[in-house]
Amino acid sequence: MKQEVLRTLRAILGREHLLTAEEDLACYSFDGSGGDILPQAVAFPDSTEQIAAILRLADKHRFPVIPRGAGSGMTGGAQPIHGGLVLVCSRMNRILEIDTDNLIAVTEPGVITGELQSALQKKGLMYPPDPASLKFCTLGGNAAECSGGPSAVKYGVTRDYIIGCEAVLPSGEIITTGVRTEKGVTGYDLTHLLIGSEGTLAVFTKLTLRLLPLPEAKQTFLLLFSAIEQATELVAEILQSGIMPCTLEYMDHTAISVVRKMLSVPLPDSTRALLLLEIDGSREKVEQQAGTLRKFLAPRPVTLQESTTEEERRQLWQARRSISPATFSIKPHKISEDVVVPRSKIPDLVHYTSRLALELELTILTFGHAGDGNIHVNIMIDKTDRQEYARGLEAKKNLFEQVLALGGTLSGEHGIGTTKAAFLPLEINPATMSIMQRIKHLFDPNNILNPGKIFPEESEQFADHLGDQR
Ligand SMILES: Cc1cc2nc3c(=O)[nH]c(=O)nc-3n(C[C@H](O)[C@H](O)[C@H](O)COP(=O)(O)OP(=O)(O)OC[C@H]3O[C@@H](n4cnc5c(N)ncnc54)[C@H](O)[C@@H]3O)c2cc1C
Repeated sequence: MKQEVLRTLRAILGREHLLTAEEDLACYSFDGSGGDILPQAVAFPDSTEQIAAILRLADKHRFPVIPRGAGSGMTGGAQPIHGGLVLVCSRMNRILEIDTDNLIAVTEPGVITGELQSALQKKGLMYPPDPASLKFCTLGGNAAECSGGPSAVKYGVTRDYIIGCEAVLPSGEIITTGVRTEKGVTGYDLTHLLIGSEGTLAVFTKLTLRLLPLPEAKQTFLLLFSAIEQATELVAEILQSGIMPCTLEYMDHTAISVVRKMLSVPLPDSTRALLLLEIDGSREKVEQQAGTLRKFLAPRPVTLQESTTEEERRQLWQARRSISPATFSIKPHKISEDVVVPRSKIPDLVHYTSRLALELELTILTFGHAGDGNIHVNIMIDKTDRQEYARGLEAKKNLFEQVLALGGTLSGEHGIGTTKAAFLPLEINPATMSIMQRIKHLFDPNNILNPGKIFPEESEQFADHLGDQR
């Protein structure tokens, strides 16, 4: 990056909000999936106008700009793989408005998801999307990835709650999309085009969010199984039985073993899988649904435990949210996928991963949002063991092929980024890919905004694609 460009960036941001020292740049060379390519500079803008000025400059001088929230993304979306300027939204962290009459909030993109949720809870409101990373990820990152969480089975994902936004295009133009009303069909739905676009089309600077009243009551159940297929087969059955859980999470025995110490309730040694199920709503509704659940489970091979205190519930969720980082107690690296299959196919998928683990001599664990068929498959490896690493990559490719054969999709919430880009053509046909690439070109003709993400770059091949995590 030329000195002249750095001087202009300092003038836009203020000297203290632009980092260029190598040791500082190193902190922005990776995200939750790894990475080690340094950017040339890191900017911390404080306003839409600053972001617009930065993008105008980037477009003129043709340097990459990589939007970044908390850097917790699992697919390389915030990695500066072609160098350039990392644009961190952490200073734009204001909740601008909570409109309790119309159940709407307006926020900047750097607000931490969990902090918005705490502020809303105090007003008896909720913003449902609840990624396991909610204590540190940002709403801007959630919007860019269309993140989801355990509550998606009942409430849906980020896309269902962002009704409008302000965003800056790569040209520096500022657009406003969507509405702040319950309905609205004026013009193309650009809000939903931008959500899930992984920071490749525009930088979010304001988000308008739909809120819900906080449910009056919630009840938490642990369903313990002595065989894995008993758990996976029950998921679709539960959802057909008239029970509408607000979360239905699944853990296999390896996932359980890495967080076992954190669980307040002792589990029988025979536990091979569990489902964590919650019901929410009015007190009356929760009691009625809990009764239906107990009756439904009574004749089935499952041990039911009900969590009775708020502390027990908190610990259960802490354990659930800790699975991903805790897996590193098994191996130093992992290939972490968030595939989705139709719910009725979860048993086939889990069975397939067990077979793959045996055949390729790998530890593969499965857990995640079973209620919506979104299973996290973690292939544990030691990258310094080249043979094990190669087997891990083979497992990843086989997994994707199997998921698509089962009628599924490559990603439910983590996005494509760099780690799945080479595999996109497996799922998306050439005509569809072409229209997506033309949309990217229309928004960003000079390819300055987060280049190298989502679409496979020419050199990428399945066989040598690294796609590794951490
Ligand atoms: C332990 C752990 C658990 C997780 N659990 C879940 C889960 O349950 N569900 C889930 O969906 N994800 C989960 N994730 C993944 C991750 O937290 C989400 O993808 C999250 O939305 C990323 O937010 P972030 O602020 O960290 O974004 P970053 O990682 O900084 O960026 C992610 C993408 O968003 C883009 N971006 C960031 N800000 C903007 C902006 N203002 N405008 C435009 N683009 C922007 C970036 O360029 C990048 O492409 C988990 C991650 C970890 C480490």
